[in-house]
Amino acid sequence: MKKDFTPTLLDLGPLQIYLARHFGFCYGVENAIEIAFRTVEENPGKRIFLLSEMIHNPQVNADLQSHGVQFMQDNYGKQIIPFSGLTADDIVIIPAFGTTLQLEKKLSQLGIETEKYNTTCPFVEKVWNRSEQIAKKNYTIIIHGKPKHEETRATFSHAAANAPSVVVKDMEQTIELAKYIKGEKSVEQFHEEFKGQYSENFDVTKDLERIGVVNQTTMLASDTQAIADYLKQVMAEKHGLTSINVDERFADTRDTLCYATLENQQAVSGMLQTDADLAMVVGGYNSSNTSHLVELCEEKLPTYFISSEEKILSEKEILHYNFHTKEELLTTGFLPNKKPVKILITSGASCPDALVEGIINKLIYLSDLKIPTEQLIEKFQ
Ligand code: SF4
Repeated sequence: MKKDFTPTLLDLGPLQIYLARHFGFCYGVENAIEIAFRTVEENPGKRIFLLSEMIHNPQVNADLQSHGVQFMQDNYGKQIIPFSGLTADDIVIIPAFGTTLQLEKKLSQLGIETEKYNTTCPFVEKVWNRSEQIAKKNYTIIIHGKPKHEETRATFSHAAANAPSVVVKDMEQTIELAKYIKGEKSVEQFHEEFKGQYSENFDVTKDLERIGVVNQTTMLASDTQAIADYLKQVMAEKHGLTSINVDERFADTRDTLCYATLENQQAVSGMLQTDADLAMVVGGYNSSNTSHLVELCEEKLPTYFISSEEKILSEKEILHYNFHTKEELLTTGFLPNKKPVKILITSGASCPDALVEGIINKLIYLSDLKIPTEQLIEKFQ
């Protein structure tokens, strides 16, 4: 059935808010949060650790920390609490992005049982399973993802256990990788250019003969598709194949995109059809899927990536994150001086709905509309 991606309009007269048809928490994040809080509840007195941030949302992580949960690593795998400090009595929760085989092994050597507290999202596991399937057919695995992101590191570790694997972060790097497929660049250049992104003993002269692409589940769907299409084309040209037999060299892996990432992105494309003045994207500043929603909105509208209502300082000023330069900026005059003001709102997969609600309430408050929330809700009952 064709899905409807038309946004929901909250028509408040001078303020018109268009909410994306799909936004916010995905199954994997909800499941992970539920397991984490249940673990806290069922294990009073035990030390509970999280391998790294549960999800990329500061409010959720702060909430967990306030319940005594400690983070062992930062987002980039840097150790905050050493493994040597753990005992078999401790509980270690694996976050929704999953973890590497090496870390799983390390924990089991310490006598720590991770299975019960593993919140790895089934859609991430699906990517691992898909990699394993194509590895069995002797394809090398190309992972489209951010090389330092936890999920990509986990997927890389699982993929590399079964087949030669290499990570590409974007189309630019894919075009460079294609030059090795075509024999245009040297082995030395590969080792330098893809340092830290390829599996042990990767032989660039042999391991790019048969390939398949999987992705970090939160990448921009259209980017992964473009990368896969490009590499497919390169393989077809290099080996003189057609669409009928290109699968001899290029595995079809289209189904590794996560449904939530895809739906949130499609809903943004749907709401961008609206003749709006600006867009607000809510989520943690280090959230990959949220930054992709920002990227889509930026193509069309002034876009403000904010983590909570507190970033809207007044009807004139807003603090927002520029994920390209990784800095928070102060913009003055973000609300246009016109009526009605039309604002698009969406949020990332790791963002609680309460934050979106807080932002809507703040906008209502600043617009001086004095409409109680109950009255607003009535409109939708
Ligand atoms: S974005 Fe997708 S893969 Fe990631 S946790 Fe959510 S459902 Fe799972």
